[in-house]
Amino acid sequence: MRHPFSSRVFALSIAAVAWTSPPSQPEAAQTSRQAVILITLDGARTEEIFGGLDAEVFKSSLGEKQVLEEQPAYKRFWAATPNERREKLMPFFWGTLLKEHGSIAGNRALNSVATLTNTHRFSYPGYSEILLGEAHDDTVKSNDPLRNPYVTVLEELKARLSLSKTDVAVFASWNVFDAIVEHTDGALTVNSGYESFDSPDPHVAALSQFQFETPTPWDSVRHDAYTFRFAMDHLRRSRPRVVYLALGETDDWAHGGRYDRVLETYARSDQYLKELWTWLQADPEYRGKTHILITTDHGRGHTTTDWRNHGATVEGAQHVWMAFVSPTMTKRGEWRDTPEIHTNQAAATLAGWMGLDWKALRPSAGAAIRGN
Ligand SMILES: [Zn+2]
Repeated sequence: MRHPFSSRVFALSIAAVAWTSPPSQPEAAQTSRQAVILITLDGARTEEIFGGLDAEVFKSSLGEKQVLEEQPAYKRFWAATPNERREKLMPFFWGTLLKEHGSIAGNRALNSVATLTNTHRFSYPGYSEILLGEAHDDTVKSNDPLRNPYVTVLEELKARLSLSKTDVAVFASWNVFDAIVEHTDGALTVNSGYESFDSPDPHVAALSQFQFETPTPWDSVRHDAYTFRFAMDHLRRSRPRVVYLALGETDDWAHGGRYDRVLETYARSDQYLKELWTWLQADPEYRGKTHILITTDHGRGHTTTDWRNHGATVEGAQHVWMAFVSPTMTKRGEWRDTPEIHTNQAAATLAGWMGLDWKALRPSAGAAIRGN
């Protein structure tokens, strides 16, 4: 079900033009050494992002003899109100990042809606929509590891800003990212799925080995812990300008019906955001010059019978959310009574932060989100 709109949304549509139009002067380009970081949490529902633990869903995931109130994850994450629950689940995201430094769209209860434009509502088309700024439903329609038929915003940023291969880096838990993020194989630094990561740091080198000794239940997805550590190591040593961190476990534990582990994954992802942010703030080269977009590739079903799933026929899988942490955006907290935004605006937003007008390159792409 789509959130029922009032007629004032129509009145806001004129404002939407100004809201999303590209900057006349690419302000990001006027300042030296901007950086962008894209972060995705695979299949992260709006329910958990905006409301934390969903007790009905948790209950539906339990066996007959299991008692909801006795579950460790329930004891850890339950609270009386949605706002308290989400702060228990993601204390840094809600308590610091969005309160003091950024904003988030997609809470339908506040009349803020964010949706996919692709109709497939599964991962490859979702990530491709983020990275291209447009859906290609006829050609990007499978999760098979097929090379992306189009040049991505990551590749374009590298070319247009004359960046090196280490300057544009992707760390992903799912191995199909090798194919999604690059039209030209080998254009970027990409480490995805169970893949060795070379580091002179013996601790990180050991982690690279351990990823193969700690299998997940899924052949194509390693634990996010490794993905995050490798990304941080690359950030520290190679000081990239464009980083994409693609975390995967929120989706995979949900498919497996392990709602307790879904919740734990959100909490771990929150810790990663905190560690990353703390590092960025301590580094003069990144502090105040780094723009972060956090979003998801698709939603999932809204109900206890379909929260595990997503896809073209699953109601709710089109609903996403998008968080912005940028020195050029002044908006804080949750978006409220704003025009609907779409995943196809992510590419132009990322490019715009780096001074690149994505719609000039791809006229059919969604417009950059400014929101300030
Ligand atoms: Zn999935």
